[in-house]
Amino acid sequence: MVEVEINKDSGFCFGVVNAISKAEEELSNSDSTLYCLGDIVHNSHELERLQKKGLVTINHDELKAQKNTKVLLRAHGEPPSTYQIAKQNGIEIIDASCPVVLRLQKKIKEAYELSDDTQIVIFGKKGHAEVVGLEGQTNNTAIIVENENDIERIDPNRKVKLFSQTTMSLEKFNNIVKLIEARQNAPFEYNDTICRQVANRMPNLRDFAEKHDLVFFASGEKSSNGKVLFEECQKVNPNTLQIHGKEDIDAENLKKMIIEKSIKTIGICGATSTPKWLMQEIEEKINSIIIANKL
Ligand code: SF4
Repeated sequence: MVEVEINKDSGFCFGVVNAISKAEEELSNSDSTLYCLGDIVHNSHELERLQKKGLVTINHDELKAQKNTKVLLRAHGEPPSTYQIAKQNGIEIIDASCPVVLRLQKKIKEAYELSDDTQIVIFGKKGHAEVVGLEGQTNNTAIIVENENDIERIDPNRKVKLFSQTTMSLEKFNNIVKLIEARQNAPFEYNDTICRQVANRMPNLRDFAEKHDLVFFASGEKSSNGKVLFEECQKVNPNTLQIHGKEDIDAENLKKMIIEKSIKTIGICGATSTPKWLMQEIEEKINSIIIANKL
């Protein structure tokens, strides 16, 4: 019989747990509509669950039209302009920004305010909500480095302070540090601000992916750490498939794969935005296919 295991370290990080429990608490204690600025979590299944409870997602343009309402800020954090709009429009903020992100915002703000001619550089995904919040601390003057090519935008003759979006890969960050170091003439300071809730999962996740014959990695496509963690799993086990949920598992395809590849064990894991219940649903579906086909 094929064995199925859920990775015990996969699932929500404390920042996401905190944001979701704040939303649920508000929804059960109040009759007024609770708006959330942006998707509370990059997982459509969990979003749907919370929307059914009354959470309404709005974007930044829609925020400007809100007056005297209640708006939850998700774990990614927000730039100062969001707080200003809320103040002007009498919006009550339920701030669920992750404390790790808030600390990073503070560090960047201090570096920006103290700096003489220092260039603030952020290693992160352009346009990602967390990066927008970080950029906002520098009045949008920070240089966002997403890949090696972006390093060209840094002036090597001026001081540099480098920070990282919390969910980037540590390996890629170290590579960016080396590349900047190699071309920099003026002083260069770097701050490894990658959240250990993501980085610490890597070794365990690699071991988990390596020990199984087939791995299902569950996450939404908007999840930054989902992309990083999925790539790590695929590096050690090419038989790793990314799925959104149980609906992506086709019984006939799975049966064929198990037989053709002589699969004995299947692992299920996910990102910091993947709910445990979703991985359990996937496990149930796989087990039902195994039992029905006597695999
Ligand atoms: S990954 Fe880290 S920084 Fe991001 S929300 Fe989770 S705990 Fe906070």
